[in-house]
Amino acid sequence: MSDSTYDVIIIGGGPAGMTAGLYASRAMLKSLMLEKMIMGGQMMTTTKVENWPGYPGGIEGPELMMKFQEHCVEFGLETGYGTVEKIIDNGASKTLIVDGKELTCKAVIVTTGVVPRKLGLEGEEALVGRGVSYCATCDGAFFRDVPIAVIGGGDTAAEEALFLTRFASKVILVHRRDQLRATKILQERILKHEKIEIAWNSVVDRLLSDNTGLTGAVLRDTQSGETREVELAGMFVAVGVTPTTGFVADLVELTEDGYIQAGEDTHTSAPGIFAAGDCRTTVLKQVSTAVGDGAVAAIMAEKYIEELQHSDN
Ligand SMILES: Cc1cc2nc3c(=O)[nH]c(=O)nc-3n(C[C@H](O)[C@H](O)[C@H](O)COP(=O)(O)OP(=O)(O)OC[C@H]3O[C@@H](n4cnc5c(N)ncnc54)[C@H](O)[C@@H]3O)c2cc1C
Repeated sequence: MSDSTYDVIIIGGGPAGMTAGLYASRAMLKSLMLEKMIMGGQMMTTTKVENWPGYPGGIEGPELMMKFQEHCVEFGLETGYGTVEKIIDNGASKTLIVDGKELTCKAVIVTTGVVPRKLGLEGEEALVGRGVSYCATCDGAFFRDVPIAVIGGGDTAAEEALFLTRFASKVILVHRRDQLRATKILQERILKHEKIEIAWNSVVDRLLSDNTGLTGAVLRDTQSGETREVELAGMFVAVGVTPTTGFVADLVELTEDGYIQAGEDTHTSAPGIFAAGDCRTTVLKQVSTAVGDGAVAAIMAEKYIEELQHSDN
């Protein structure tokens, strides 16, 4: 980070953050994008993206994000690693506490996305890295020729189950309802895949383990209440997401689920703080919508800064 004062600081290096960075730096604003883990956000945990326009046949998520990153620094966006722990709103300026250090800017764009939700089962945390995972792309290859389960019934669960058939001997898709929520095209692929078995109307009651890690799970039929044990070497949880917004909870209005309350113009309840992408109240959480949001947030930040300057004069 070149010095500690910026026009705009973007928090999060996913598709929304990168697009906000591209637009803000192209508008000649002195801009910094901060990422706490890995540049590219959730897209770094997926394989082929088939619905990003311009790539017939699809493109791998990490490859797409490398292109985003290359592009967003082209106009002078500064990028850096760091966890934003707190934003202090001083009105015309904002102070960000990043790993204990202070950075100052005129406008903030929050693009901190979401993280996978946990099942909340006893032993789940302790088994992460020893059988329990929330990312098939990251950990799938560790599970060759062994039975595994995917928990969930939406698009992510379906995509993960299909991806894991490359490695596992068998994939049990555990879904609490009698129908998948995944899009039709994914449902069709799941239903006809010979390695995938669906445990309909089922939930995981208990995890089974020994000192090496996960060994199985007890599944419960939600209709009959009957339970059965299944042998598993791995379990991939895909039961939804939680927005990463705790650090702004005392600053901007959130929904009950923790999403930042912001309309299409990305304005939050705090002037000069904008929210874009999966962390705000969007109806569709995809790369295409995150990108649109990022662009809008940068332009809104630019307008806000212009108005600040006029009110100074
Ligand atoms: C497995 C999987 C498959 C998917 N497949 C598709 C697909 O095929 N097509 C599609 O369009 N979409 C897909 N998506 C959804 C898509 O990835 C998201 O909609 C998109 O990434 C949202 O972008 P974002 O920038 O809002 O948030 P994210 O991608 O979540 O990025 C947010 C970033 O902010 C960082 N961050 C969080 N808190 C802080 C902090 N305090 N300080 C600094 N940095 C912070 C995070 O580390 C993260 O890198 C998929 C998602 C997953 C998980």
